Amino acid sequence: MKILITGGAGFIGSHLAQYLVKNNHQVFILDDLSSGSLNNIAKIHSSLLHFQKGSILDERVLEKIIDSVDVIYHLAAVVGVQLVVKHPLKTMENNVKGTENVLKIANKKRKKVLLTSTSEVYGKSCKDKFSENDDLIIGPTSKSRWSYACSKIVDEHLALAYFKEKKLPVVIVRLFNTVGEGQSGRYGMVMPRFIKQALNDENITIYGNGKQSRCFCYVGDVVWALKKLMDREEAVGEIYNIGNCENVTINELADRVVKLTSSKSKKIYIPYEEAYGEGFEETMKRIPDIDKINKLIGFQSKFNLDAIIERMKNSI
Ligand code: UDP
Repeated sequence: MKILITGGAGFIGSHLAQYLVKNNHQVFILDDLSSGSLNNIAKIHSSLLHFQKGSILDERVLEKIIDSVDVIYHLAAVVGVQLVVKHPLKTMENNVKGTENVLKIANKKRKKVLLTSTSEVYGKSCKDKFSENDDLIIGPTSKSRWSYACSKIVDEHLALAYFKEKKLPVVIVRLFNTVGEGQSGRYGMVMPRFIKQALNDENITIYGNGKQSRCFCYVGDVVWALKKLMDREEAVGEIYNIGNCENVTINELADRVVKLTSSKSKKIYIPYEEAYGEGFEETMKRIPDIDKINKLIGFQSKFNLDAIIERMKNSI
């Protein structure tokens, strides 16, 4: 099969490309290299991989490449809380206009699209577990963190509208915190940052009081699920959470990283305003309900937190 991955030079996109090439698919990557990098795909030595530098905002480039493939994994987006807070305009433009372009051209060419959304859309919900039909509780527009969630909510609505009105086959996934080899800490992602700090015996920078918690899913589990969902007819027009259910506070995460790297690092606490700028709002807990995806494709994450840290510490 010929497959397009928008954002294929990014962290998740490059793991997906590697997985698809290994399974003998021809993979076409479109990436503007704004946060992705050629380093991420340099390890994929295969004539099945094709790279094109370009933006999803460029309709001509998009039209040509979509014409040459069978299906599309749409991952290209501005991601990472730090990046989003710093570039709210680019976030809205790329994530809304870019996705609109992908869906419009996919519809014209009648190509199936898997859209990657985010657990961030659940916003400030206080529920124990987030499931796909829950209300989405977003903070005020004056706090730019929420521009990311809002852009992805619009993307989901657009995709569902194309499905309902035009019968375009779309699958929507909400990715919870995804981690693994090759992930950069540059845009704020906590796991690669803590592991790097620990390996260098530097202070571990905890934002806020560290009582906020997250569930970290190994990227290999995520790309496996993406392919399985793309292949299932029943997934069309549906939304699926993808994530690990092992919940850990950021304090515990720091302790586990320090222990598993035998580091001398100490934890330090940095106020949110210092880390992200004035008026930042934190999400205190985010656990996925994975019943829906589990029922369809038997999804369970195979790597627990310690196994993930072990893998990542050898690649940083
Ligand atoms: N975080 C932290 N120190 C860092 C980077 C992040 O304490 O150096 C915290 C961050 O405030 C959040 C959690 O770790 O509570 C996860 O952050 P990340 O940016 O990885 O993902 P997200 O906030 O999107 O869940």
